[in-house]
Amino acid sequence: MRFKTTDAFTGESVRKPGLDSSIATIERTTTPKTMPPASQLVFGHTFTDHMLTIPWNSEKGWGKPEIKPYQPLSLDPSSTVFHYAFSLFEGLKAYKSEDGTVRMFRPDMNMARMNKSAARIALPTFDGEELIELIKKLVMLDEKWIPSEKGYSLYLRPTMIGTQEALGVGPSSDALLFVICSPVGPYYASGFKPVQLYATTEFVRAAPGGTGGYKLGANYAPGIVPQAEAAKRGYSQNLWLLGPEHELTEVGTMNLFVAFRKPDGTVELVTPPLKDIVLPGVTRDSTLALAREHASGKTRIPGLPDKLEVSERKLVMQDLVDAEKNGTLVEVFGTGTAAVVSAVDKIGYEGRDIEIPCGPPGQGMGDIAKAVLDRMSAIQQGEIEHPWAVVANDAKL
Ligand SMILES: *Cc1c(COP(=O)(O)O)cnc(C)c1O
Repeated sequence: MRFKTTDAFTGESVRKPGLDSSIATIERTTTPKTMPPASQLVFGHTFTDHMLTIPWNSEKGWGKPEIKPYQPLSLDPSSTVFHYAFSLFEGLKAYKSEDGTVRMFRPDMNMARMNKSAARIALPTFDGEELIELIKKLVMLDEKWIPSEKGYSLYLRPTMIGTQEALGVGPSSDALLFVICSPVGPYYASGFKPVQLYATTEFVRAAPGGTGGYKLGANYAPGIVPQAEAAKRGYSQNLWLLGPEHELTEVGTMNLFVAFRKPDGTVELVTPPLKDIVLPGVTRDSTLALAREHASGKTRIPGLPDKLEVSERKLVMQDLVDAEKNGTLVEVFGTGTAAVVSAVDKIGYEGRDIEIPCGPPGQGMGDIAKAVLDRMSAIQQGEIEHPWAVVANDAKL
C-alpha cells in the first residue's frame, strides 16, 4: 500500500510506501514474564512480553512492522530525539470483559491526534487504520496481561521519535514508531479522592501559537518543576492559567470541566475551548458528547442534572471567585484516560483557597463527574454496547 505524503523539505507531493499491517512479522518471546498480582500494579511500571516497532525513512517510507519480545531500543547518540525533542506519544486503554472480549476505547481518535502531533514536528504521518490493526495484534498476543477485574485495563503507549543519526535542526530523515503496553489497576485504588489545585501565575503550560494542543514529549518535562512547587504548597496539581485575565486551560495533564448553577436552576457544564492551547482529550470529547446527548434528550444519562447546558467557552478565575461567593459553583473536575475523571475540591488562588463542593460524603466526586465516570466505564467494559468500544479479538496472529 502506497500513500501520498509531502516532502518536509520541499513541500513537494511524493509517493512512498505507507504503513502496512499486512506485512507485519511476529516473533514470540521464548521467555514469557509473570505478571505481578493485579493488586500490586503501579501505573506504568510493568510492561508486557511484546512490543511493536515500525521504522520510517524519508526515502523509503514506512518499513516492516515488527511485533517482537519487549526489549531495549538501540539508538545512535546523535539521534534527533535526544537533542531537539522529536518525540510524541499517545495513551489509550484496552479492557477485557469476563467473557474474554477485548475492547479499545476510541482508538481512531488517538490515531488522528498522533498524526496531528507528528505533522506539527515534521515527523511522518501514517494510515491510522493500519496502526489500529497492528495494535490489535499486539494486544491480542499479550492478552493474558489484561486483567479482567473491573477497573483494570491495559494501558497502550504508542510513541514516535526522530532517529536521524546527525545533528542539525531540521526535519528528521528517520523516525521510529513503537508501541508498548502496561497493565494498570484502578487509578484510585483506595476509593475516589478529590485533588487540590494550585492556580499558578508563575508558570505557563501553553501559549497561543505554541504546541500545547499536541501530545509532544517537549510539553511535559517543563511541567515537573511547577508541579513540585505546587506540591510544596500542599497542592497535588497545577491549574494552568493563561494571560492577564487568568484564563483557565487545563489541570495537570487533564482537561478541565466546571459546572455552574444558573438562576433558573439549569446547570451549565463548561470546558475551555481548544484553540491549539488545550490538549484535545479523547475523554474531554467523550464527556462533551455524552453530556450533549443527555441535554438534547437523545440519550439521557442517570445522575446528570435534568436541565443541563453544555458549553465550550472561555473561563477566567474571576468566574470561579464570583461563583464561589454566590454559591453557584457546582463542581470542578479533570478528565483524562488514566483516571477518566478526577474531582477537585480546592483551588489555591492569590493567597486563598476556593472551596468546591464534591458530592455526598464518601462519593469522592460530584454527581456530574460520577455520572460521566459510570457511563464511560460501562462503555469501556462493554456493559453498554457502543460504537466507541472497538473489539480487538478479530486480530490475525
Ligand atoms: C493526554 C492529555 C489529556 C487527556 O487526554 P485523553 O485523550 O483524554 O487521555 C489532557 N491534557 C493533557 C495536557 C494531556 O497530555
